[in-house]
This record gives sequence, structure tokens and C-alpha cells, in this order.
Amino acid sequence: MTGVPPDVPGLFDERGEIVVDHECKKCGYNLRGLREDGRCPECGTPIGLSTTGDLLRFADPEWVEKVARGLKIILWMILVGLIAGILGVLAGATISEEAGTVLMFVVGLISFYGVWLMTEPDPSGIGEDPNITARKVIRITLVVGLLSSPLQLAVDALDLPYAGVVLVGIAGVLVILVGLVGEFAKFIYYERLAKRIPDDSLAGRARFLKWGFTIALGLVAVGGGIAAIVAATAPATATAPAAPAAGPPPALALLGCLAIPVGLAVVLALLVFSVMTLFLLLRLRKAIAQQANLARTTWAAALGDGAMPA
Ligand SMILES: [Zn+2]
Repeated sequence: MTGVPPDVPGLFDERGEIVVDHECKKCGYNLRGLREDGRCPECGTPIGLSTTGDLLRFADPEWVEKVARGLKIILWMILVGLIAGILGVLAGATISEEAGTVLMFVVGLISFYGVWLMTEPDPSGIGEDPNITARKVIRITLVVGLLSSPLQLAVDALDLPYAGVVLVGIAGVLVILVGLVGEFAKFIYYERLAKRIPDDSLAGRARFLKWGFTIALGLVAVGGGIAAIVAATAPATATAPAAPAAGPPPALALLGCLAIPVGLAVVLALLVFSVMTLFLLLRLRKAIAQQANLARTTWAAALGDGAMPA
């Protein structure tokens, strides 16, 4: 392809031995003190494959393929969700609400599997900070999101006292916050993957959407929450006997008039950022699938060279 890949600078001493802690890209074994022409004592992978930097094309091809496959599943589930949503609107009441809920739960489960595949750890340990990583944050928030939906159904079925309703409301807000953190972490992860392609334009797009998409989503969630509270309290005031000089106070009326255009603008922004995220994922999946092919070629060549024991 592009000749001999460059080694990580400062990795070897003058005798050709690895002088720093450096992990095997296949199994994570510490290769310190070993030579580049040797093999990993743990898994037998040629050490030369592990000294070529962080780019995906030099990473374990099986892992890169898993990431690409995860992204593909996520994209398909977005498509299925969109089609189901549009059909649901068009078909109206022909599909029962329960069937819709079940379908969305199945789509959610398959997406869960896709995100899990996408966030499999790189066996080399690259990208694993000593502290918590974006990858782990995505997984934790994913589990919280998945657990919250059956809990929500169970809570809806119960007839809770007022205090219970408030607690459930607080829990719901926390679940939404956790979800926002998860979305933010996903874009950090996309940016890191893009840098390992390396593709600065994709990385920049991920960095932009990390803020744009997450903030728009957060505002829509807050706006939806306020609208729900207003809707829940409105009947109480409406049923009260109307005084002659009824009607909302002018300040509130003004706020209500402003809420509609601002709300529309935020929803529009979220739509635009969602479409941008979709294209980001399409480009990222394509690029990572290409990197997986390059990695497979690199590793096949190296494994083939070393197939004959000296
Ligand atoms: Zn190894």
C-alpha cells in the first residue's frame, strides 16, 4: 500500500528493543524489552504489527470490523425507526399503540447491540485512559436507558400517590440527563475514531455536533418537560369558575407567544443536527470499513511473512 508504516517514535532503544510500556495490539500483553522482529509471547502476533502507531489501519482488523459492523447496525436501526415513525403517522390508528411500543423496544434492543459492538475495547488498549473513557460512559448510559423503559411501563401501570409521581418525575429527568451525557460521549468517541483514520474533517464535524446536537436535544427535552407541566396544570385553572376579568396576565401571554417561535427554532435546529449526525455516521462507517480492509491486508501480509518459523 503505502510502504513500510512508521514506527512510534521513541519506542526502541539503539539495540532495537522496546524501551517503554507498549501493549500488543491483539491481546494487550506488555511488549517492553522485546524486539520488533519477534512475536508476542502471549498470542504469537508479530511484534512489528504492534509498533506502528494508533491508526485504525494498523489495529487488530477483527476489532475494526466490529466497530464498522456496530455503526452499520446503528444506521439500519435509525432507518427502521424513521420508516416506522413515518408509517405510524400515515397509518394513524391502524397500528395499535402496543404494537408500536413493542416495535420501538425491539429496534432499541438491536441498536443497543450495535452501540455495544461499536464500543468494544480495542485489544491494544489504545484509547483506554486510566480514568473513565467515553467508550465506558456510552455503555453505562446505554444500560440506564434500556432499563428505564420497562420501569417506565411498570410505573405507568401503577396508581401512585402524589409523592410517588414527583419521585418518578425526578427519576425521569435524571434518565434524560444520563441520556444527554451518553450522546455527548458518543461524539467524543466518533471524534477519536475519526482521528485514527485519520480524517480531520470528520473529527471536526463530530466535535461540532457534540455541542450542537446535545444542546439542541437538551433544549427540546426541557421545552417538552415545561409543556407537559403546563398541560398538566392547565385543566385545574380552566375548570375554576372564570372571573369576569379572566385571561392570562400580560407577561405570561407574552411568554407564551415567544415560546412558540423559539420552540420551533430549537426543534428545527435539532432536526438539522440529527440529519448532520446521520451523514457523519454514514461517512464514518464507510471510512472505518475501508480501514478494516487495510488492516486485514496489513495483518495478513505480516502473519504470512512470519508463518515459517526460523
Ligand atoms: Zn499478543
